[in-house]
Amino acid sequence: MISLVFCTQRLLFCRQEQQIQWPDAQALGALSAQGLVPTEFQFTHQGRTYAVLEAPPEALPPAGFIFQSLRALFGALDEGLFAQISRVAQLLEWNRTHQYCGCCGQATERQEALARVCPRCAHSAYPRISPAIMALVIRDQELLLARGPHFQPGVYSALAGFCEPGESLEQALRREVREEVGLEVDNLRYFGSQSWPFPHSLMVAFTCQFAAGSLVLQPEEIEDARWFPSHALPALSPPISLARKLIDATVAALHTQHP
Ligand SMILES: [Zn+2]
Repeated sequence: MISLVFCTQRLLFCRQEQQIQWPDAQALGALSAQGLVPTEFQFTHQGRTYAVLEAPPEALPPAGFIFQSLRALFGALDEGLFAQISRVAQLLEWNRTHQYCGCCGQATERQEALARVCPRCAHSAYPRISPAIMALVIRDQELLLARGPHFQPGVYSALAGFCEPGESLEQALRREVREEVGLEVDNLRYFGSQSWPFPHSLMVAFTCQFAAGSLVLQPEEIEDARWFPSHALPALSPPISLARKLIDATVAALHTQHP
């Protein structure tokens, strides 16, 4: 049995020779003294059982370990395990932030697996998922890649942004591309999607074709955006990311069409 210890949105682990280590009996003993609460969110992965526990918000990590954001594990664990942990993290976060009714303030009760219900006014709250689009704009043999101010140095990626109320994914994509880089696009093609648990997004990726306009960058969001020839791309995000899969698949398709 492996114990995963969450402290609000952070998870307890350490790294030894690039491998993620989960807390051992000694670390768990040290944390127990500070109060450690078991949760219902147990799962198995590759024959191993993972128990999920919660430490109080003020808990101090045991010697040699740190509480760190889930983001630090992205790319460091196999995809299946990361998906399980990110599911649990989103459920814990929903549980933590929906203890009281948003309508009348009464304490809510857990009803079904994925519902918290108010016993006074019957308002129910389900885990929130915020859809976001990712857009890879293609112009002949070139790809439009951009970088935001928070990216690792030198890394570029596809454009991305959250859907707003009332929008379809396609409308959100056209608006985001227009706002971030000033271009109009056409011929949207769905590529794939990925849960993006920071804290509760669903990333939905498309390719699209350049239709009109010239690059005008939105300063707060986009530090740089350029057309890159498909055979000369800059540094990209890790292979586990949807952005990277989108870019790699698009480059492969372009090279098959025009070897
Ligand atoms: Zn209520």
